[in-house]
Amino acid sequence: MEIPFVSFEPMHNEIEEEILNKFKEVYEKNWFINGTEVELFQSEFAKYCGSKYCVGCGNGLDALHLILRAYDIKQGDEVIIPSNTYIATALAVSYVGATPIFVEPDINTYNINPENIEKVINKKTKAIIVVHLYGQPADMDAINEVAKKYNLKVIEDSAQAHGALYKGRKTGNLGDSAGFSFYPGKNIGALGDGGAVVTNDKELAEKVKALSDYGSNVKYNHMYKGVNSRLDEVQAAFLRIKLRNLDKWNNFRGKVAGKYLEGINNDRVIKPIVSDFSNHVWHIFALRTEKRDEFQRYLSENGIGTTIHYPKAIHLQEAYKELNINKGALPIAEKIADEVISIPMWYGMKDAEIEYIVEKVNDWR
Ligand SMILES: *Cc1c(COP(=O)(O)O)cnc(C)c1O
Repeated sequence: MEIPFVSFEPMHNEIEEEILNKFKEVYEKNWFINGTEVELFQSEFAKYCGSKYCVGCGNGLDALHLILRAYDIKQGDEVIIPSNTYIATALAVSYVGATPIFVEPDINTYNINPENIEKVINKKTKAIIVVHLYGQPADMDAINEVAKKYNLKVIEDSAQAHGALYKGRKTGNLGDSAGFSFYPGKNIGALGDGGAVVTNDKELAEKVKALSDYGSNVKYNHMYKGVNSRLDEVQAAFLRIKLRNLDKWNNFRGKVAGKYLEGINNDRVIKPIVSDFSNHVWHIFALRTEKRDEFQRYLSENGIGTTIHYPKAIHLQEAYKELNINKGALPIAEKIADEVISIPMWYGMKDAEIEYIVEKVNDWR
């Protein structure tokens, strides 16, 4: 059996007609930037998250960058981020000239460990970017408590957690502001790039909106040296269709995860752990094993596609050599990078495919 790591086919087949009709509608309207589709998507996505405001932008990295700029975080400031995340979280901090400060995760949930946060806070610390890694919310109450004590902004990197719940509340509504990505492979993805900032803070939403549109909220009147990072009408139109299916698709992922969690039993393989406060949306189903590369080869030989999220911790990347953080300095992030492996998780996987994967994982000796 051949099972790709990801396939958009079942999802896109179901909405193909709707998407094509919508494309024709937008095409015939001849209005491609800052129009009604973006307006509608923004209000629908804000409502979905249970938040007041949503501002579309070019991608998830820009969403985080725009938030940091809107908070006036800049050179000389420090922003706390988890030591195991996609590099975008760190790059957003670097874009505004601030320094990312890595905090180790909990080895069980892979999310930032609130107990490690307070130790790195100093006068330069301005914010914490929390990542809901793989689709599981971080321990927000504990994080918000530390942030409150030191008057820090809490920014959610929700790029992997659209629709996930923390104690019944949606991501995007768990801190001061949140950045979302609509990269095609995310739980809800555009047919290209897209992103959004979600917040209950009106002032922040307005500033992000201006910053994303050349620093202007009134045409040809520029308050800031902004950037051009807007969500296209056509992508917003597609996202509106996808948003109506997101809960269905997330529930499907939950069912696949349930079958993996129940079926996979191999002493050499560690399964993901779901915290009792979280409703996981399984952007990624990550297993962990000491012989990861051997395991990946074995799965590949058996036709099972896998990916590593992520194979090299950020502090060990060439791009961040200026930070002078040596190998061994962040052992949990490094261990995760060495041992983690993501197996197929996508809407429309067949029972036979899930069972085959379970069987092959269990047969690995
Ligand atoms: C995908 C992702 C991003 C960046 O999103 P883009 O839309 O690709 O810019 C940021 N953070 C995390 C955790 C991500 O997974």
